[in-house]
Amino acid sequence: MSDDCLFCKIVAGEIPADMVLENDHVVAFRDISPKAPTHVLVVPRTHAANVAAVAASAPHELAAMAVAAQQIADDQCGGEYKWVFNTGASVGQTVFHAHGHVLGGELEESIV
Ligand code: AMP
Ligand code: ZN
Repeated sequence: MSDDCLFCKIVAGEIPADMVLENDHVVAFRDISPKAPTHVLVVPRTHAANVAAVAASAPHELAAMAVAAQQIADDQCGGEYKWVFNTGASVGQTVFHAHGHVLGGELEESIV
C-alpha cells in the first residue's frame, strides 16, 4: 500500500466505494463521476502508478484486470465497452494508482 493513495485506501476498505467485482487480484467499483451509462474502474490490488508499471511488475494482475473488465461489461452493457487508461497528468490522469475505465452503453462522441 502506498501512503496517501486514494485507490489503495479503497482496496483496503478504508474508504467506501460502490463495488461491482472483487477477487484476489483486482477490485472494481463505479466511478464517482460517471461519463457513460456504465463507468466502472478496474483497479489492481497492488499499487502501481500506471498500466505499464502493472505489466512490468505484476502481469498476472493486468491479465486479471482484462478478465474483470469483460465480466463487468458482460454483466452491465452487453459485453461491449471501451477500456481506457489515462497515463500521465497531461492526458487527464488524476489518480496515480493504475486503473482501467470500463465505459459502456450510449457513449458521447469519442476522440478514438
Ligand atoms: P483518471 O482521471 O484516469 O486518473 O481517473 C480517476 C477517476 O477516479 C475519475 O474518473 C474520478 O471520477 C474517479 N474517482 C475519484 N475519486 C473516486 C472515488 N472516491 N470513488 C470512485 N471514483 C473516484
Ligand atoms: Zn495505490
